[in-house]
Amino acid sequence: MNRLAYPALEIDQKKLLNNVAEIVNLCKTNGIEVAGVVKGVNGEMGVVDSFVAGGVRQIASSRIDQLKNSKLKHQNIETLLLRLPMLSELEGVAAWTDISLNSEKQTLVALNGVCENLGKTHGVILMMDLGDLREGDFNDQDLIDLAIFVEKELKYIKLEGVGTNLGCYGAIKPTPVNLGKLCDTAKTIEGHIGRSLRIISGGATSSLPLLLEGNMPDRVNHLRIGEGILLNMDLPELWGVNFDNLHQDVFTLKAQIIEIKTKPSYPVGEIFIDAFGHTPEYQDRGIRKRAILGIGKQDFAMEDKLAPRDGEAFIVGSSSDHLIVDIEDCSGNYQVGDVMDFDIFYGPMLHLCTCPHVQKAIVNPIGE
Ligand SMILES: *Cc1c(COP(=O)(O)O)cnc(C)c1O
Repeated sequence: MNRLAYPALEIDQKKLLNNVAEIVNLCKTNGIEVAGVVKGVNGEMGVVDSFVAGGVRQIASSRIDQLKNSKLKHQNIETLLLRLPMLSELEGVAAWTDISLNSEKQTLVALNGVCENLGKTHGVILMMDLGDLREGDFNDQDLIDLAIFVEKELKYIKLEGVGTNLGCYGAIKPTPVNLGKLCDTAKTIEGHIGRSLRIISGGATSSLPLLLEGNMPDRVNHLRIGEGILLNMDLPELWGVNFDNLHQDVFTLKAQIIEIKTKPSYPVGEIFIDAFGHTPEYQDRGIRKRAILGIGKQDFAMEDKLAPRDGEAFIVGSSSDHLIVDIEDCSGNYQVGDVMDFDIFYGPMLHLCTCPHVQKAIVNPIGE
């Protein structure tokens, strides 16, 4: 890599490979296949490569272009479309994805037609809503009817299995009870169609604690994992669930200091409205030394989901293009031009990876 321009997002490929292999092995021991989810990193090929090198055979995303690029580079993988297909993108779905998540009969019928024209068969996982209230059939009988319809009526659609999504919109925790309902419904469908389903997909990173506790229902044999492999921040920091041997610093956000000054920490004058139409609350900590860095909300969206690696520094606030960091208590002697490193949570990762102003750099490459 050439000299870094800033802001930069470094991806340590060796650490990532370690995380992939750890989760793939944990899942394998429990009879579970991992789909490696790359939507949070804009389908970054260095991440796709690490997933494949770590033993993942299915790459998953909500966006077809990311799956297309993954497939062009790694012909042997299976591509899984995570977002229910739009009627406007069915050609792309049929051409570049092997399997998609679905819940609408109308879409499935249209997709069957597109596949017939292309002379292709496409796999589907039908989604069941277990209470999180995002996608999927809420009543199990609706899901059973849809599964029978796909199996009997749609010649170019292969019913690969059923799945669910939890811990997203409704923040609902995966449990043996709600995932057990998914397994029971799968069993009923298998009774009707007279064969077993290949995939019972029991959720995302938020389903991993069930594995650690040994409480995952037996029939679940597939998980779609992004955050838990890429960042491993949510389960340890928000759920209090810790994994041995997983890195939390695969990603490093690097931003450069453009000003260092000592100023009051409480704004001076009449507090009115900030750049985003809000009236924030400010804490008066007295006179403090702070650094301004050349990065802002346009790049990372949420400053409260960034954490300085220097534990003596803390983030004060940000605007579109500026990040203000309190460095009063830092033992290091920061200068203008120095670069500060940050850990990131999922929200900033998503934004940083799609932001053209942020340079992406692979460090510690695994080699082809
Ligand atoms: C994003 C997504 C995932 C992956 O979620 P993580 O929390 O990153 O593991 C899995 N399934 C679906 C349907 C998704 O949209």
